[in-house]
Amino acid sequence: GQPVCECYDCYGGPDCSELSPECAADADSGDPIFLEPFWMQTAADSSVLIPGWHRMSYRYDDYTLMSRELEYYIRKLHSIVGNAITQGRYMVFGVGSSQLLTAALYALSSENSSSPSNVLATIPYYPMYKGQTVLFNSENFEFGGDTNSWQSINSTNSIDVVEFVTSPNNPDGELKKSVLGRKTIYDHAYFWPHFTPIPGPSDQDLMIFTLSKLTGHAGARFGWAIIKDKDVYEKLLNYIMVADLGISKDTQLRVLKLLKVAIEEDGKPLFEYSYNTMRDRWDRLTSIFSKSTRFSIQKRHPFHCNFFNETRLPSPAYAWVKCEREEDQDCSAVLEAGKIKGRGGSSFSAKKRYTRLSLIKSQDDFEMLMLRLTELVSLENGNI
Ligand code: PMP
Repeated sequence: GQPVCECYDCYGGPDCSELSPECAADADSGDPIFLEPFWMQTAADSSVLIPGWHRMSYRYDDYTLMSRELEYYIRKLHSIVGNAITQGRYMVFGVGSSQLLTAALYALSSENSSSPSNVLATIPYYPMYKGQTVLFNSENFEFGGDTNSWQSINSTNSIDVVEFVTSPNNPDGELKKSVLGRKTIYDHAYFWPHFTPIPGPSDQDLMIFTLSKLTGHAGARFGWAIIKDKDVYEKLLNYIMVADLGISKDTQLRVLKLLKVAIEEDGKPLFEYSYNTMRDRWDRLTSIFSKSTRFSIQKRHPFHCNFFNETRLPSPAYAWVKCEREEDQDCSAVLEAGKIKGRGGSSFSAKKRYTRLSLIKSQDDFEMLMLRLTELVSLENGNI
């Protein structure tokens, strides 16, 4: 007989055009697919074709593991955006920023196993910091939890600490500063004009960036660290060398191609596209939440963006939702009952009363989120 075609996940009916009433909005992962349409528009300029004989060696012709041309373009991008000082700073590439987070910990932690460094972050924090620290089970560092419970230690104290500062923060989008003012790793994954006004260049000792949240190419697995101190730089480089003999040359070539497009017209086409998409999403999101007393989202305050040269509101990658009713202790369960899948507060060592909703997925995912949120808020107002 006739083959029976199956419809995509959420659709049914004879021609697959009917939205299934059971379909949930998935706002869980931070997959940055919102930038896919931009790369479709620029497909001709951003594609790479690699002949079989190209870049077979472990090393480049100058015997390094990192493409100098790519390093040049990254520095140029930072100077166009104005989000980081790179003059006189060292740079190390990694397999995503994920690899550099551990490499940085290795480089900064105590070499004395009888007093390992305490790895700290401020709640709510990105769970990978703890996950990696626990996985590597090093004698030189261990996870020490929330910075706020360490505030009483002063700088003369011999306890060694390494603090992760995520700025803007995942999950709540806040531009964070170090709480303890000791050794820091600044995770600047989201410090780009799509997500926050850029108040000025970051000039921290150790800053980590990723292609994932800049161009959206999370699958390329590319990140970089910008480092002030030569010894710290050499340790990071050594980590990458011993762990992996450097990172994929194919990836470096692809990233080079993408960044050449990213800096065209001083970054205007990319950052206007990315910012406008995020702003439109936030406009619609805030309009829904303004009708709710049961749910709230983080407050946003405008400040000056040096890149766009005007005052703007931040448009973070995630909505940090709070369930306000006393009985709604488990916010992600409440949302799940409304067919919305988010990531519960406990994933970020925060209260279950909070849930993170991702706003950087595809337009279809976002539309589904808007639909389910609208239904949930209308229910609260007795309209359904
Ligand atoms: N840091 C933060 C704060 C993140 O949210 C993420 C990704 N979700 C990463 C680092 C890791 O990103 P990648 O390894 O893709 O660079």
